[in-house]
Amino acid sequence: MCNLRPGGGSPYFMTIHFFMIIIKQNRVRFCHFGKSWPALQPIPRSRVNLTLSNPSPANDLFRARNSCVKPLHVTLRSMNVRDAAASANGFAIRAEQVSRHYKMGEVLIRAVNEISLEVAAGEFLALLGASGSGKSTLLNLMAGLDRPTSGAIHALGRDLATMSSEDLATHRNRTIGIVFQSFQLLPRMTLEENVELPLRLGEMPRSERPAHVREALERVGLAARTRHRPTELSGGEQQRAAIARALVNQPKILLADEPTGNLDTKTGEEIMSLIAGIHRPPSGPGRTIIMVTHERGLAERYADRIVTLSDGAISREERLR
Ligand code: ADP
Ligand code: MG
Repeated sequence: MCNLRPGGGSPYFMTIHFFMIIIKQNRVRFCHFGKSWPALQPIPRSRVNLTLSNPSPANDLFRARNSCVKPLHVTLRSMNVRDAAASANGFAIRAEQVSRHYKMGEVLIRAVNEISLEVAAGEFLALLGASGSGKSTLLNLMAGLDRPTSGAIHALGRDLATMSSEDLATHRNRTIGIVFQSFQLLPRMTLEENVELPLRLGEMPRSERPAHVREALERVGLAARTRHRPTELSGGEQQRAAIARALVNQPKILLADEPTGNLDTKTGEEIMSLIAGIHRPPSGPGRTIIMVTHERGLAERYADRIVTLSDGAISREERLR
């Protein structure tokens, strides 16, 4: 299902269910079972944004494969998105009194409750805490995958609340790499196709993509496995491929949610070395890393700072380096 919204905050907002979208002579037309929708005039292509509802990394990736959304690749080019390099005052992420509450019947779950947290550009922050303490919820808010109930999140100086869901998808694509415990590779695609997806979403010309994909896969030691599908790889290799996919667009911030959670100790160590190398590479710019883990040992070895969450709030903060 797609949402369609004309650019510039037009008053109307509709959901397409069974419509055809035709781009012809630089105009977008909407047809409903062969008929033009009478309420809609053709809209200049430069003013149209299309996105899947329910933004999530899975949708960002799905969108690249979905034929109904192919015009997106054309229309996104004209989106009114400011460059992410806006003034950040030295902070990669700044959360101000951020809450995310869920209402479950009569019960209010305060998954994240008035958290304020600043993560410096180039810092490696570990988020520690028991299961259910709000780590993933906070990470998703910082990634722009979810919106807070109250409070504000700034990423590289931009207030995520001011961004439309289309802007957020573009922001995630350009600025943030995300790695999950369960890898989230698309099983029918080869590794190189999986890693190429963010480049397709970012509309990099087709001819330029292979070099970037190769470089990302080489960086994680998978240059020889480009034609393999995820199911043909070990868990560690799949996570390395997921890291390559997260890095291929050169994001300034890498968010990782229990990246070693599904791996044995030795493989987990390898993945942590890889992440440490991304944080401080021998050459080239480093990256801000925010990693959720429940393994204190890992956090102490690699992170600059540990923030511990309990019941949706910060209960402890330790500066290590
Ligand atoms: P952690 O990652 O630290 O294990 P989470 O951030 O996943 O914790 O969850 C924090 C709390 O919020 C938990 O009590 C969880 O059940 C609740 N929670 C998370 N997501 C939802 C949701 N979509 N709906 C309702 N409750 C949720
Ligand atoms: Mg979690």
